[in-house]
Amino acid sequence: MTPEERDARTEMARLCRSLFERGFSVGSAGNVSVRLEDGYLVTPTNCRLGDLEPDRIAKLDRDFAHLSGDRPTKEVFLHRAFLKTRPEAQAVVHLHSTWATALSCLVDTNPEDCVPPLTPYVVMRVGKVRLLPYVRPGDPRMGEMIHGLDGRFAAVLLANHGPVVTGRTLFDAVAAAEELEETAKLLVALRGQPVRLPDETQVTELHEVFG
Ligand code: ZN
Repeated sequence: MTPEERDARTEMARLCRSLFERGFSVGSAGNVSVRLEDGYLVTPTNCRLGDLEPDRIAKLDRDFAHLSGDRPTKEVFLHRAFLKTRPEAQAVVHLHSTWATALSCLVDTNPEDCVPPLTPYVVMRVGKVRLLPYVRPGDPRMGEMIHGLDGRFAAVLLANHGPVVTGRTLFDAVAAAEELEETAKLLVALRGQPVRLPDETQVTELHEVFG
């Protein structure tokens, strides 16, 4: 095992435990993947993110065939679709976190832009988010829908299910998933109230300054 892979496994276990301990994932919900030089690391099926053992994390080859470790999550196709279409993404975080999932259940959530730019931070860390229609867990159409977005979005919300978020590093993907969750909480809390959103010029300025 390369030092790079060893460090990635340790970092994955540390950040997954942090997500679990702060309530972003409960039970065995949620899964995480990281890109390596020679393949991918993916959290195992039916594991609690709080109890991840670095050596048991599933290793997949470049074609996502299972090489070693425990069997990967059944939702691996979400990760595959994003990692294939966003070459700059080094990691994917999928959660069933409460507020983002609540937002994904509301009938008036705009599927084209389901997380309005309420704060500068969600614009900088997450960007525009698509809401993808409900399909049952494990249905490969979910991966096909993410594939169909051609890597244009760094994050999506799966209707009645939860968010899938990418990042340039695992740390960035986790931070973006946290930002998405906190923004979803604000959006649900502010429902029915007249809300002032940053205007187009202010959003453009954020893209220009922060990329
Ligand atoms: Zn899920």
